Amino acid sequence: MADLGIPANTINILQKYNFNFQKRFGQNFLIDTSVLDRIIAAAEITKDDCVLEIGPGIGTMTQYLCENAREVVAVEIDNALIPILRDTLSEYSNVTVINDDILKVDINRIVEEKNAGRPIKVVANLPYYITTPIIMGLFESHVPLKSITIMVQKEVADRMKEGPGSKDYGALSLAVQYYAKPQIIANVPPNCFMPRPNVGSAVISLTRFEEPPVKVDDEKKMFGIIRASFNQRRKTLVNGLSNAPELKLSKDAVRDALIKMGLNENIRGEALTLEQFAELSNNL
Ligand code: SAM
Repeated sequence: MADLGIPANTINILQKYNFNFQKRFGQNFLIDTSVLDRIIAAAEITKDDCVLEIGPGIGTMTQYLCENAREVVAVEIDNALIPILRDTLSEYSNVTVINDDILKVDINRIVEEKNAGRPIKVVANLPYYITTPIIMGLFESHVPLKSITIMVQKEVADRMKEGPGSKDYGALSLAVQYYAKPQIIANVPPNCFMPRPNVGSAVISLTRFEEPPVKVDDEKKMFGIIRASFNQRRKTLVNGLSNAPELKLSKDAVRDALIKMGLNENIRGEALTLEQFAELSNNL
């Protein structure tokens, strides 16, 4: 099958199947072989790897993954793409396409079935409208992972790397940095996609830590505190956390915990490091 990273081949397939792009599924297909090569190289895909691809589209990156990995599982929500994938991936016997919503599939089960429960790699040009729930879902459900190499909106890639003091610092930064080491691999301009997105993109790799960098007694509780802190970004932590009904915390309890940590009682969540959120969660 012709390399779909070459724009003319993608156009041929789209015309052959009279394919209509679905904006609501964030469909922007890659049409740049050098970007595809860089993603495969950054993910260090070898014949030992089982790879989960989220949103294969017409199978462009899937072809590259099938060439380099032992086993590929691709989860695609759009029914209209399934017959196309059957065609574009027909010469590969190491791929399984699942027609489903990635937020609904049991990824742990896929890892069990396809890789005997051993860690897999995730590689994807993500649908941007659900980047955060996909990443949080992968981490929070403790899927055995070696790494995640993904194309995301440039601004989101930047957010994953930020620390306190930046306006882009938030719950996603803290979640990513608790679970993994983020590294931006490449910036990718809109003309590498069809159709062109109206934002810049970046490839980012997230290498899972064996042990999180901070010790926390109750991860769920810490992320509840982090979410509540950034939901009400402009409020002090004392007000923001005591206003969040799910946390059941009084103003006095939050104030006492902050003072115990040597922090000002008027501090906002955006000023706290990951270590300080862990300590606050342990103290509360
Ligand atoms: N991987 C292809 C490429 O690089 O050319 C397509 C990438 S496109 C940005 C995102 C893909 O994710 C689309 O094929 C879209 O239909 C699919 N998608 C969107 N939402 C999804 C979901 N909830 N579950 C699985 N796939 C989804």
